[in-house]
Amino acid sequence: MYYPEPLAKLIDSFSKLPGIGPKTASRLAFHVLQMKEDEAIDFAKALVNVKRNLHYCSVCCNITDTDPCRICQDKSRDYSIICVVQEPKDLVAMERTKEFNGFYHVLHGAISPMEGIGPDEIRITELVKRLSDERVQEMILATNPNIEGEATAMYLSRLVKPFGIRVTRIAHGLPVGGDLEYADEVTLTKALEGRRELS
Ligand SMILES: [Zn+2]
Repeated sequence: MYYPEPLAKLIDSFSKLPGIGPKTASRLAFHVLQMKEDEAIDFAKALVNVKRNLHYCSVCCNITDTDPCRICQDKSRDYSIICVVQEPKDLVAMERTKEFNGFYHVLHGAISPMEGIGPDEIRITELVKRLSDERVQEMILATNPNIEGEATAMYLSRLVKPFGIRVTRIAHGLPVGGDLEYADEVTLTKALEGRRELS
């Protein structure tokens, strides 16, 4: 089918998004075509801004528009605990529980030999650097309850042992194979409270 080039390009861009097939892509593109101009410009600006104004926090590796991020700057938080999560979305899920008042570390992935993702591909070096801070007494491993998440938790617990820091894993009760970000607040709070020491 023939579309004028700007429209074809927009359809092509939408179709590169996850879960968007060609039909949905053209529906979205036609929707943009019908938007008011300032609405469309706001939309375009939002896209550009996430790329230009967001980067990784130099401390916790979360996505942020300030450096350090707002959480790392918050002096009312508990310096003794670092909660390790896979993705920024997981940090948001933990924050929603309002039960955790420590700091975070975002790995941006999990170890997965199947997909060729080793420890060097995720933000582990940055995490280890933080552990030399004497205030840190506990590291909570809140990686996902699936094979990759467990493998990552195991790897980290062995790596961190020599630092003499308490290493805990959030309790099960989280749906196995599920993602942390989809867990409801009650389940996540319980998982946090029931965390156990890793030996
Ligand atoms: Zn941070």
